[in-house]
Amino acid sequence: MEDKSQNPLQRLQCSVMNYDWGLPGRISEVARLHALNSGSQFDPEKPYAELWMGTHDSGPSFLVSNHQRVTLKAWISENPHVLGHKVLHKWGSDLPFLFKVLSVGKALSIQAHPDKELARTLHKLHPDLYKDANHKPEMTLAMTDFEALCGFITLKELKAVLYTVPEVGELIGAANAELVLQTSDQDEEKVKPVLQAVFTHLMSASKGSITDAVNKLKGRLHKEREVRQLTDKEQLVLQLEKQYPADVGVIAAFFLNHVKLNPGEALFLGANEPHAYLSGACVECMATSDNVVRAGLTPKHRDVRTLCSMLTYKQGSPEILQGVPFNPYVTRYTPPFEEFEIDSCVLPQGETVVFPAVPGPSIFLVTVGDGMMNTGTPKGHVVTEGDVLFAAAYTEISITSASELHLYRTGVNSNFFQAS
Ligand SMILES: [Zn+2]
Repeated sequence: MEDKSQNPLQRLQCSVMNYDWGLPGRISEVARLHALNSGSQFDPEKPYAELWMGTHDSGPSFLVSNHQRVTLKAWISENPHVLGHKVLHKWGSDLPFLFKVLSVGKALSIQAHPDKELARTLHKLHPDLYKDANHKPEMTLAMTDFEALCGFITLKELKAVLYTVPEVGELIGAANAELVLQTSDQDEEKVKPVLQAVFTHLMSASKGSITDAVNKLKGRLHKEREVRQLTDKEQLVLQLEKQYPADVGVIAAFFLNHVKLNPGEALFLGANEPHAYLSGACVECMATSDNVVRAGLTPKHRDVRTLCSMLTYKQGSPEILQGVPFNPYVTRYTPPFEEFEIDSCVLPQGETVVFPAVPGPSIFLVTVGDGMMNTGTPKGHVVTEGDVLFAAAYTEISITSASELHLYRTGVNSNFFQAS
């Protein structure tokens, strides 16, 4: 019998989430990869939203073994050396990151993730809603064209919204609208409190006034569409209204940046930044946590007060990462968070790429093609699309492709090892 605990490379069977914003099975990358990963069928009409690769209790990954079902979490806690001593010392005997694939069919809720201190408080007060005490910085790397709402627009842009979208003014009230128009960009200390007051007012508006405003907006845009080209944001809010009728998020979208990523571009989100993914497929990495504070575009629990008080109210477009070439086949995306980084690898047929040994754990996901994966032992592993593999710390991985191979690797941020 093979001793599983000695193998530095472990195949994983991963959990899938069928949230209702996912794409239907027939066109969902998550459904395709999960079916390949688990050897199961997918339902062509059911939504498939997220594939989870990691140790979070809400969606555990399992070691593929003939004998019994062991979670990656249990195996790591029995074999903590696979994390490497620096990771073990910093985060304990659990994987610090959670890796995902997302297939976004319709908008996710307008949300933010708490910092560590707020996460601890929320988990203590409402363990049913906030299931862990960890923060959740995250990074999204587009696999297809990918759209999101992310961060607040600038004060100048918000003033333009007030002039062109009367429904926003109606909801925040004349006094608040005047407050925004009177605030100067130069007056940096004032901008954030003003934005906070106005956004909180909007998000706390009564159900009736929101329904009125959204209906008015919709009627007006439908009329104006016949005589002029609607702006990008106007087209987006009409689309959001179809997905979430009479939801405050339709109006809140006017306050946020509409970000469009090309495949291979990435976006990262620190604690307390508002965002909502809108459409497309991506890989996503985050600290091991599922803490989400929601306030719009959702049938789920809303916590408007917490959301509005936690946000940083930073303004302006977010930074887009293009990635940095790590070698001819690998592009690396490094966010400013210790817990993770993502490598994207495109390997032409018949080529070999080496991922040097690193002092922390990695997870590999093959999305296209097949090949052989080697760890220095004579026996290689045949890998094909849908395969997910955990690699222990200090393991050099070499991969040779049988056909053009696409894979992603996520691991602890290299900067963490350099700094410590
Ligand atoms: Zn998020």
